[in-house]
Amino acid sequence: MYFSDQIDTKQTVVGSKRAEQGRVLIIEDSRAVSQVMRHRLENDFFCQVTQCASADVFRNVMRGGDTFDVAVVDLNLPGASDGEILDAVIAQGIPAVVFTADFNRDLRERLLQKGVADYHVKNNEGAIDLVVSSVLRLLGNRQVGVLVVDDLPSARAMLADLLRVQKFQVYEAATGYQAMDILTRQPHIELVITDYNMPDMDGYELTRRIRRDHNSDRLRIIGISSSADRLLSASFLKAGANDFVYRPYVIEELQCRIQHNIETLAQLRQLRVAAFSDYLTGLPNRRYFFDEGPAQVAGRLERDEPCCIAMLDIDHFKKLNDTYGHEIGDRVLQAVGAKLARRLDGSGHLLARLGGEEFSVLMLGLDVEKGSALCETLRREIESLRVALDDQDINVTISIGLAEIAGRESFSNYLAAADQLLYLAKSYGRNRVYSETMLS
Ligand code: GH3
Ligand code: MG
Ligand code: MG
Repeated sequence: MYFSDQIDTKQTVVGSKRAEQGRVLIIEDSRAVSQVMRHRLENDFFCQVTQCASADVFRNVMRGGDTFDVAVVDLNLPGASDGEILDAVIAQGIPAVVFTADFNRDLRERLLQKGVADYHVKNNEGAIDLVVSSVLRLLGNRQVGVLVVDDLPSARAMLADLLRVQKFQVYEAATGYQAMDILTRQPHIELVITDYNMPDMDGYELTRRIRRDHNSDRLRIIGISSSADRLLSASFLKAGANDFVYRPYVIEELQCRIQHNIETLAQLRQLRVAAFSDYLTGLPNRRYFFDEGPAQVAGRLERDEPCCIAMLDIDHFKKLNDTYGHEIGDRVLQAVGAKLARRLDGSGHLLARLGGEEFSVLMLGLDVEKGSALCETLRREIESLRVALDDQDINVTISIGLAEIAGRESFSNYLAAADQLLYLAKSYGRNRVYSETMLS
């Protein structure tokens, strides 16, 4: 999609469907349980699900050579009542979420030792939801980078292994400087887990330095230490960490803390997307345009590259609303927005719905001549767009004003110049592009 892609590459806001298209294996003999899981994973989260109700079916599926991103494993199956299938799943390198009716502390120990990613007990109605959440987490984690900072190799490896079981992309640093270097090179790192005692700088100092460039709404930091000093956690948090864990840690607790931090980032991202997008068309909104536009223009002017700005306005839209009703008007706005987005997708130009039936495109790297040609293409594409109603198709036209961005002025001045040219395009008959070069 135009907006998510654009935002993705800028690391400003990211799309929310990270789990999309995971391949999930459900090994479960209760048909009712596996059907509910399958339904949710396929319909709500677009996963591809394969079901196995017995050990034989599982072996057949494995022989078929399919690969899977996550498996949900029942420990007690016809033909394998003692968790044999779990060993086979883990041997295949598939992260496993165990879903079992019988649970005790011994079993927990064994499961953790085998390296299961998560486990849930079949003892309440909400348990299936928890399994589904675990599956989605593991699928989502594949795109999340986590940096472990610890000068002690064994401690670092233990933590890194735990994170790999959770399917994170794991990076390791033995010193503070190494950590900062990796962070600048790997922008998809969302979490840093750092030890306190290190030779070049301690964990507080590293946290403070990271926070100079990375805010808590984009990067989380968890402190960790085997020290007995109870003040350590407070000092870490005051330096800018989001959480702190004392060693030795309980694996599940650490996993939950890590996951809460990752989820918080995802929620913040969703809020940013919502604040920056137009509800009706899904395009970037005025706020985003004014937030992002000035920086983009400044960058181009600095490099002496041309850019221009176009104001687009649907012709006689009020009449369309009056004739067909507001709802149809909305559909036309959506269709026009989608058409413009498709045409500009991947171009690097910035499209937004400014409000009502007005759109704008900031054309980066284009002079007025090239900008005019692009505007002309957009005008023609909208002219040929047909919006299907029950018994007829309707079409609309747009008028465009195009202004060159030459000197440094306020962003709203650039837009005002384009708006004045738009006014001329309207007064000369609509369904046309009007630029400064046509003024003389
Ligand atoms: P012109 O060719 O000069 O641009 O005329 P126009 O009728 O398109 O322009 P005008 O600015 O007079 O009318 C714009 C109309 O757009 C009025 C307003 O009701 C309608 N409008 C604004 N926002 C929305 C919206 O979100 N949905 C719908 N359906 N209509 C909207
Ligand atoms: Mg109009
Ligand atoms: Mg208008």
